[in-house]
Amino acid sequence: MTRLERLRADLGRLGTDAALVVSAEANRRYLSGFRGDAGILWVTSQDAALITDARFWDQAEQECPDWRLVRLEGQTYGQALAQLTAERGIRVLGFEAAAVTYQTYLGWRRELRGVRLRPLGGVVERLRLVKEPEEVAAIRGAAQAVDQAFRRWLPLVRPGAVERELAAELEHQLRLAGAEGTSFPPIVAGGAHGAQPHAVAADRALEAGELVVVDVGARLDGYCSDMTRTVAVPGAPSTDEARRIFAVVHQALRAGLAVLRPGVRGRDVDAAARGVIEAAGYGACFGHGTGHGVGLEVHEGPGLSWRTPPGVRVPAGAVVTVEPGIYLPGRLGVRLEELVHVGAAGTEILSRAGLGL
Ligand code: ZN
Ligand code: ZN
Repeated sequence: MTRLERLRADLGRLGTDAALVVSAEANRRYLSGFRGDAGILWVTSQDAALITDARFWDQAEQECPDWRLVRLEGQTYGQALAQLTAERGIRVLGFEAAAVTYQTYLGWRRELRGVRLRPLGGVVERLRLVKEPEEVAAIRGAAQAVDQAFRRWLPLVRPGAVERELAAELEHQLRLAGAEGTSFPPIVAGGAHGAQPHAVAADRALEAGELVVVDVGARLDGYCSDMTRTVAVPGAPSTDEARRIFAVVHQALRAGLAVLRPGVRGRDVDAAARGVIEAAGYGACFGHGTGHGVGLEVHEGPGLSWRTPPGVRVPAGAVVTVEPGIYLPGRLGVRLEELVHVGAAGTEILSRAGLGL
């Protein structure tokens, strides 16, 4: 089944006089192949249209040969939707609650009188959970770009090197390794700075022997990768405490990876990794979830966290991260993150660059 057919099978419950409007960028690209950054999809049981403006016209023709193209000419998206709605006798319009602003919603209510607007959650995101082979190949390629860039970059980690410059150099190496770009600004955070899980690389010089958290992802064919390593700056030896914490996080990572298989509940992967950290007495120092799905977006479903609803399972074909960490405020942080394809025939770790202190 094509992606559109799977979506239609899912949408049957909205009724035959219903259409779905897709405005989230990743969902739009997933369904239509359109890479432009403005446009709306309109999908009914019969019809599939992309509404976009003159800037993207040639691109839309090339990228979406099977889609009916509707060109905005001095109209709003709401007016174009109203036209399609009237043409096709549509009475219910499903829209992505998470992607439509309240302002847009009020506009559509005015422009689409007599049509019922139905907020929907995660319809296309659910389809995206299971990756097709070519999607896995793109993610694997993005992970390989990170591996190559990381290996070339690692010798620059030395006393006196500035985090912000190291992050810029890592981005540069990613581009040279074939990536389209990064999937998020790389984190290079040494010493106490590494205790902030989402630190921004700063004008801070690394000190001999301190630990540096390096979190980096590339983008290839629109798909993301995500990997974290914690390395020691050469020079004076890291403290016993730093070594102990690294060993605990490494063990938590292995525990999370060990339970990762098709059908496992997201929260059970979190529990496996978290259990190791709690048993070592650092439970209060691991404040984020253990992992997340990765695809067209660097953070997508399924969640692997204690907050993940019990019904959420990791389907065969998912690509997820496992990334436990321990953060001691004012002192140091350690996080290790692997990117894993959970295949029906077994799991494959997509990130290869060496783990080690
Ligand atoms: Zn990451
Ligand atoms: Zn991550």
